[in-house]
Amino acid sequence: AEEILLHSEKLTLAGQLAAGIAHEIRNPLTAIKGFFQLMQSGMMKAAYYNVVDEEFGRIEMIINELLVLAKPQAASFANQDIAALLEHTATLLETQAILNNIQLNRSYQHASFMLACDGNQMKQVFINVLKNALEAMPDGGEIDIGLTVQRDNICIRFQDQGCGIPKDKVKRIGQPFFSLKEKGTGLGMMLSFKIIENHGGVLSIDSEIGKGTLVEISLPIQRR
Ligand code: ADP
Ligand code: MG
Repeated sequence: AEEILLHSEKLTLAGQLAAGIAHEIRNPLTAIKGFFQLMQSGMMKAAYYNVVDEEFGRIEMIINELLVLAKPQAASFANQDIAALLEHTATLLETQAILNNIQLNRSYQHASFMLACDGNQMKQVFINVLKNALEAMPDGGEIDIGLTVQRDNICIRFQDQGCGIPKDKVKRIGQPFFSLKEKGTGLGMMLSFKIIENHGGVLSIDSEIGKGTLVEISLPIQRR
């Protein structure tokens, strides 16, 4: 998706999205169409079924992530226990961490700090960010998940020991379909930025190649 975005820097977000969707969905569709033609000619081997299934899966994944974006934003604000949301996220991804030899270190300054937010959306952000951290560490290591409460805002930190992000690429993160991964959708961070922004907060990324990445989310305690 990189080349599309380079040319569409002046496009609106909707324009970038449309260009990205067209591009991202056309590839798996072309593949499926090819296999379908093989099938019609009776040359479709059972071994190809998996590939078709994977291509369908990819379209499904892109559509699912886009649907989250289409939902009414910050629809249901309610008091949420932020540490509990973080813990839920960590538990959800713990198996993937263990399989990859990654240790999740938790450090919550407040065990039950309540914040008015959309719980599902906030959890979605934590999942996106933690998943990226895990995916950046194929050789294992540690991820620190932190929660600190200041006077006016709370701060949530995910520090990994992963591959890091090239300096000139950091600002591109969050553009629709920007991904440096073979099988990435490049939608996770766009959604995360959007959700945090809708909550009046700020998401920032600090990264060093070969050392790791820090994703910091700051949220106002009083809704602005
Ligand atoms: P995806 O994970 O599907 O590629 P995202 O929007 O979640 O899309 O992330 C966009 C890109 O940002 C990733 O492809 C990756 O290159 C980079 N990135 C995000 N988080 C990290 C991280 N913790 N470590 C290294 N790279 C990261
Ligand atoms: Mg991701």
